[in-house]
Amino acid sequence: MKLQSSLTRLDTLADYDPNSLPVEQARQFIRQFLIPVTDQEPAKLREALGRTLAQDVLSPLNVPPHDNSAMDGYAVHSVPDSDNLQFKMIGSAHAGHPFAGSLAPGECVRIMTGAPIPDGCDSVVMQEHVEAEGDRIKLTRELRSGQNIRRTGEDIGQGSAVVRRGQLVGPAEMGLLASLGLDEIPVYRRLRVALFSTGDELQQPGQPLQAGQIYDSNRYSLLGLLQNLGAEIQDRGSIADDPTSLKASLQDAAAHADVIITSGGVSVGEADHIKQLLAEIGEVVFWKIAMKPGRPLAYGKIGQCHFFGLPGNPVAVMVTFLQFVREALCILMGRVPQPPFTFQVTCTTAIRKLPGRTEFQRGILTQNKHGEMTVRTTGAQGSGMLSSMSKANCFIILPTDQGSVEAGATVQVQLL
Ligand code: AMP
Ligand code: MG
Repeated sequence: MKLQSSLTRLDTLADYDPNSLPVEQARQFIRQFLIPVTDQEPAKLREALGRTLAQDVLSPLNVPPHDNSAMDGYAVHSVPDSDNLQFKMIGSAHAGHPFAGSLAPGECVRIMTGAPIPDGCDSVVMQEHVEAEGDRIKLTRELRSGQNIRRTGEDIGQGSAVVRRGQLVGPAEMGLLASLGLDEIPVYRRLRVALFSTGDELQQPGQPLQAGQIYDSNRYSLLGLLQNLGAEIQDRGSIADDPTSLKASLQDAAAHADVIITSGGVSVGEADHIKQLLAEIGEVVFWKIAMKPGRPLAYGKIGQCHFFGLPGNPVAVMVTFLQFVREALCILMGRVPQPPFTFQVTCTTAIRKLPGRTEFQRGILTQNKHGEMTVRTTGAQGSGMLSSMSKANCFIILPTDQGSVEAGATVQVQLL
């Protein structure tokens, strides 16, 4: 699909204004170009954290594979409607060491948690609910038939779909897949993401700063964000504001990556060459998003490669990544995208705001001693103040039409 032509075709963007594009419209626009990777590869389960499952996994077995005891106690063969609460102990069963025989009415077996339920038993009595003397036990509570037994297949039935294609492999999935006896699973290949910063002023951490220079922090926050997503990162350093080297970097990255992410150079300053270059070698739209921070954003394609041109300001980089790029990368990775978790909470600080843009203020959610949550801002909200992102544990999202917020008002927050 051609980007520019789809711009005019898209009904949802009929009132498209590149100088003030609503956040949700930008998201929708990007989504239509995202075709997930389909290449699969096997991954060792122990190395599969953060990968995306490429197929549904059906359970080859029942979990648990046998009825087993949920308690340390006594497995009994109860007699229906009998008030005889005495049993004779004829053996014991431990996890991994089943009791081999079978029980007759009035008999019991000492049993430990996880041990298979012996033949002839229908219930397990907790050891706290018996009086034991020699090989005799007497129940001190009423017996409920079937109690304290974990049934075969009660967690997972043989043949059932345990995890689905597109699901992220987290710690629970690693354990779950191991419980099925699997040590290798089919995953999508990692998404290749090329990353570089642009700007004549950028110096690398570890080097002394010369006059007029600042350290290239954007590449490090983006490295962290991309590592968290499980991307295969091609770190291409920082590139000067020089059209020749920028063009070469973009073309080389486009030939080797699924996605290029840059920061800086997407507004309209004299050193902002990216727009010109991309008109030459790709199809990219440049927007001023109706949001704060993060106004300038570029999205498009260079050949088959997706391009995200993020703004230069360090907070704007993280906000635009989290609001646009993260979802897009998840879709490209074949994941079922999870909408960010948001909820309403009382804000204890007053916030000044003009209607017209969606604001993503950095917030600190806390809980008082009654367990009630409130949020406050991190303080000054300049789009270059990266310390505000470090202090924050959430965004306070103030919608476009919203004006100033009084202390005590309810606001929407999104966890980081
Ligand atoms: P630009 O969009 O290139 O005009 O950059 C906007 C602001 O962000 C300027 O103050 C830049 O110095 C700053 N900036 C750009 N790139 C980076 C970077 N990689 N790390 C830290 N700050 C940056
Ligand atoms: Mg710049």
